[in-house]
Amino acid sequence: MASSKIKIIARLRPTLPHEIDDRSVSVQNSGSGGSIHVYTNDGNKASKEFKFTNAYGADSKQEDIFHNDIEPMLPYLFDGITITIFAYGVTSSGKTHTIQGTAEQPGVIKRVVQALCNMIGSHPGPDISMNMQYMEIYKDEVYDLLVPNRELAPKLDVREFEGKVQVPKLSRMPVHSEPQFHTIYQRASNQRSVGSTKLNSHSSRSHAILSLHIDMPDPVSGKTLTGTVNLVDLAGSENNKHTGNDANRLIESSAINKSLSTLGKVIDSLNRGESRIPYRDSKLTRVLQDALGGSSMGLLICNIAPGAKFRKDTVNTLNFAAKAR
Ligand code: ADP
Ligand code: MG
Repeated sequence: MASSKIKIIARLRPTLPHEIDDRSVSVQNSGSGGSIHVYTNDGNKASKEFKFTNAYGADSKQEDIFHNDIEPMLPYLFDGITITIFAYGVTSSGKTHTIQGTAEQPGVIKRVVQALCNMIGSHPGPDISMNMQYMEIYKDEVYDLLVPNRELAPKLDVREFEGKVQVPKLSRMPVHSEPQFHTIYQRASNQRSVGSTKLNSHSSRSHAILSLHIDMPDPVSGKTLTGTVNLVDLAGSENNKHTGNDANRLIESSAINKSLSTLGKVIDSLNRGESRIPYRDSKLTRVLQDALGGSSMGLLICNIAPGAKFRKDTVNTLNFAAKAR
């Protein structure tokens, strides 16, 4: 395949009410073939330009991203394909807004669940079902978010069985309807935000992976065929050295740095068609090994926060994207 296996797009979030609009980041040709300019904001007009397949400006709508970059992939789920969508960026860049969104501006998750419920409803054949799994990766360990009490939840083993990477004890719940999904998802998401640190909430320090599996009979073999979509809200990509100096923070930070840099290397190796892919170098890439390789589709959304305050992180995010491309 000539084009990237994992498509990389960027989204700049708007300036928030308490922030100053210093115009240090801008998106040109928002939409298809956009580029992001990062201005140094130091008086000289030197700017760096980064090109993306799609780059969305501060005025983009949740619906735009879903419609352009996500909806077209969904029918492939019914061929048993795995789709993985990542939100990457510094804390407060809009990852959770993009992936989860709000009641007024629902994000990728709600739109995908709605589309899948509709597609299953209109698909011929009665034997299609949807299941969900929801895990958190914190300090390079996997935890189940679909448990009654996350704080008591044990670390889960990741195993390779019959050529597939699995988390055998991760629970799986059937999805019957949109409202029923949202009840489970909301309860599980609240568990992710337990505890807080000096700068960031706990949720910024872990990766959350929501998986929706569609099981259907394979028309040829009669066996079960599964299409999966993984929606991944990654840990904040900031340099975490300044979030406090206790031992736990340092372990958190090095786990985040290691997993995000491994993710970049895996995407880069896949897009280059290399034979050795370093999946095993982090739990994040290990659990997503089957989702990233083989016959799968991927989208990496680079979320960008405006303002000179974030300049260093913005350049790091754009460099990550450029390297992974
Ligand atoms: P992250 O998950 O990357 O830490 P959030 O998604 O929590 O960032 O976004 C930080 C803040 O910015 C939140 O208050 C969120 O509502 C707001 N925000 C992010 N993206 C947008 C957007 N596209 N439009 C409006 N508000 C946004
Ligand atoms: Mg977040």
